[in-house]
Amino acid sequence: MAGRAKYEPVIGLEVHVQLLTASKIFCSCSTRFGDPPNTNVCPVCLGLPGALPVLNRKAVEFATRAAMALNCEIRETSIFARKNYFYPDLPKGYQISQYDKPLAEHGFIEIATASGSKRIGITRVHLEEDAGKSLHEGFVGSSDTTAIDLNRSGVPLIEIVSEPDIATPDEAYEYLTRLKEIILYTGVSDCNMEEGSLRCDANISVRPRGQEKFGTKTEVKNVNSFRFIREALEYEIDRQIEVIEGGGKITQETRLYNSVEGKTYSMRSKEQEPDLLPLVVDEKWRTEIRNTLPELPEARRTRMVADYSITTHDAHVLTLTKTLADQFESAAKAAKNPKRVANLVQSELMGRLKAQGLEIEQSPVTMKGVAESADLVESGAISGKMLKDLYDLAFERGEDFPEVYEEEGRPEQSRDTSALEKIVDEVVAANPKQVEQYRAGKKTVIGFFVGQVMKLSKGQANPQMVNELVEKKLE
Ligand SMILES: [Zn+2]
Repeated sequence: MAGRAKYEPVIGLEVHVQLLTASKIFCSCSTRFGDPPNTNVCPVCLGLPGALPVLNRKAVEFATRAAMALNCEIRETSIFARKNYFYPDLPKGYQISQYDKPLAEHGFIEIATASGSKRIGITRVHLEEDAGKSLHEGFVGSSDTTAIDLNRSGVPLIEIVSEPDIATPDEAYEYLTRLKEIILYTGVSDCNMEEGSLRCDANISVRPRGQEKFGTKTEVKNVNSFRFIREALEYEIDRQIEVIEGGGKITQETRLYNSVEGKTYSMRSKEQEPDLLPLVVDEKWRTEIRNTLPELPEARRTRMVADYSITTHDAHVLTLTKTLADQFESAAKAAKNPKRVANLVQSELMGRLKAQGLEIEQSPVTMKGVAESADLVESGAISGKMLKDLYDLAFERGEDFPEVYEEEGRPEQSRDTSALEKIVDEVVAANPKQVEQYRAGKKTVIGFFVGQVMKLSKGQANPQMVNELVEKKLE
């Protein structure tokens, strides 16, 4: 759209993450997903008169751990407030949240952009309770009525609010990807978007490029995938520019994204009133929680590059999930050459897992098998080609590498040099020009000879052995 050159988008994101506590934030009802509707409820989470909310310490601990992982400062005393709404899925008429004094503030996430690394500020991380859920299908009479399931009412959430530092829908996508990765590493949520454990709202405005003052923003709510967020932002940017260019004004409002039509539509507004007991997370508790923080993705990648002499790209692929990273490291530590393990995991293991639709936990070849196979190639006992064949067998049979290796009679690549020497002789004889270059001092030509010999041996020869033989012949 032409207006994009003239206007600059300003985007801030609010992400709700459901915490993996066993019970709700102010009562002992279960938080289990998928139980029959309205079976996990009590006077507290239904908001019946006289019910006394008791704060779940685990929820505070999880929220604090997540906030620390997002580089936030933790506020010692934070305040809960009731936000009054009138929603069918909130029969008590209010949601308990934090407003003036949230649990944590002033964090950030580093994201990768086309022009390098960029720091996106995090304004706040606060605790709140979830509302119930309106059901529009899956029960008798659903064709003309809506039902309410209050199992989710009172489930602990954290809301993570970013600074309006995000300049494009692509940056929003990258921010969400990094955020989800960090939260998954901390183990405080499963971030399952289909089950609603991670939900995202976006604040978006546009302003003429060069203008300091923000334009009027709209909020796009309840978009259920990162891809749809990006699409909704693209749409909303163009819509706002069109309104302004047409001489109109943007109304501050909440809008819903319809992913089928690819459009946003207008919605409602809200208010606050504080009066609940303050939440205190003191120094001692903060230290305890800080000690539960795992090594976070970015730090882990940096360390892995240094520890295992792998590339930054390797490190990114191998830390896609915490499990994969843990598994890789166990193999890398057990094997003689960690870089070879990194290559093996990416080329031989992940490719085959993907082809069979398996997760790393379901791999027939365990990390012990990976380490053992890497060492066999490293020592020259088997060739790369033989390793590929053995991995194929392992995946066919659903067995680990050591078993298959035994069953196949511990195959070894030929160390008989007479056959290989014959090939080397042929190659040397057939390429007098390269021989001359080598003898004139261009030692890199050796790579050419090794390549030719490997080709003629159909990849069966041991490259190191070929290298030695070629060198001997040429001297
Ligand atoms: Zn309850």
